[in-house]
Amino acid sequence: MIVAMQVGATEEQIDAVISAMGEAGVDVHRTTGEFQTILAGVGPTAGLDLTKFEMLPGVLHVHRISAPYKLAGRAWRPEGTVVEFRNGAAIGGEKVAVIAGPCAVENREQIFAIAACVKAAGGEFLRGGAFKPRSSPYSFQGLGIPGLELMREAADANGLCVVSEVMEIAQIEPMLPLVDCFQVGARNMQNFNLLRELGQVRKPILLKRGIAATVEELLLSSEYILSGGNYEVILCERGIRTYETSTRNTMDISAIPVLKKLSHLPVVGDPSHGTGRRDMVPAMAKAAVAAGADALIIEIHPNADKAVSDAAQTLFLDQFEKLVAELRVLAQAVGRTL
Ligand code: PEP
Ligand code: MN
Repeated sequence: MIVAMQVGATEEQIDAVISAMGEAGVDVHRTTGEFQTILAGVGPTAGLDLTKFEMLPGVLHVHRISAPYKLAGRAWRPEGTVVEFRNGAAIGGEKVAVIAGPCAVENREQIFAIAACVKAAGGEFLRGGAFKPRSSPYSFQGLGIPGLELMREAADANGLCVVSEVMEIAQIEPMLPLVDCFQVGARNMQNFNLLRELGQVRKPILLKRGIAATVEELLLSSEYILSGGNYEVILCERGIRTYETSTRNTMDISAIPVLKKLSHLPVVGDPSHGTGRRDMVPAMAKAAVAAGADALIIEIHPNADKAVSDAAQTLFLDQFEKLVAELRVLAQAVGRTL
């Protein structure tokens, strides 16, 4: 259920509603917007008489949420969520954020060169995997925590935030001091134990769409994190597996406006995994911004052909710089900045 408080409702009135909802056995999640407080009640609301809540002082209206996801739905935060990071970076505001970096952290020289390039291009986030989910157990599996330490150093030297993938619960704690945002990869979108644990963390989570997941399944996965009280979830469209073989995945651009409509959560476009092809990345990056993406996540490498993972979809640094300059013009045309 959603309880929208009147503009100007007092803290006492809000507290009284929260208590009444608690007594009815529902978990209350509060969002305090610029003008209005909205309370989401999650739990056994089916048999509840909602008029009882409608009568409480300060309540504007009460309604049931018919969608299976409750906290991810736009009704809870109609104005949208802006996830804030260090150095003034944010995802979900007017500015389209740029997250870029290698598929995998490989060595010091590589990650420092990339960090400097991301900064110079005006990006805010350095991405890079230290724990890599690889199709083959014989492929490079990532440098682990030492790789993350290198990335943290490179990011700090350039005033950037760090985004890196967490693959299992045991990695959360050692990663916590090193990352600004945990990425949950496509293969783990339905690792519900991991998602629940990330609900207890107080750091943003970038949740990628599974390779065969529907939009509703993605939103339900985000609900695992949100219901734990971690409200800083960022959704990512990274392409899905279809019958089409000319690209690595089929980037579902339409999922971006669909997610923006259904949910208040920010949405990121990943044209690198979305296409798997360097020559297609710029076009899909532009399409994602035009479709309303709040950020892009792009794989880049000074020696892209030699990248240890995802080389074929990785941009050279000069290609990335050119793309960001073009995106800046495009962003303006769709009422954003970049
Ligand atoms: C990645 O970002 O490098 C990655 C492995 O992404 P995905 O989970 O989308 O395949
Ligand atoms: Mn990759």
